[in-house]
Amino acid sequence: MLHSEVSQHWGVIVCKHCESMVDTFSTNKVVTYYGVCDNPECRDRRRDSEHRTASAEDA
Ligand SMILES: [Zn+2]
Repeated sequence: MLHSEVSQHWGVIVCKHCESMVDTFSTNKVVTYYGVCDNPECRDRRRDSEHRTASAEDA
């Protein structure tokens, strides 16, 4: 169904690794958040970076 209200803005969540759109949500203004998509490669990268941070703190 089409809504006549066109003033509503949408926030968008994009993957910080592959920049694909992960999700959208209604907001008062246009915003962009960075997250991680369902792509296994992107999830692995996130886990890898967390691993590196832990190692750096350990060293
Ligand atoms: Zn991704």
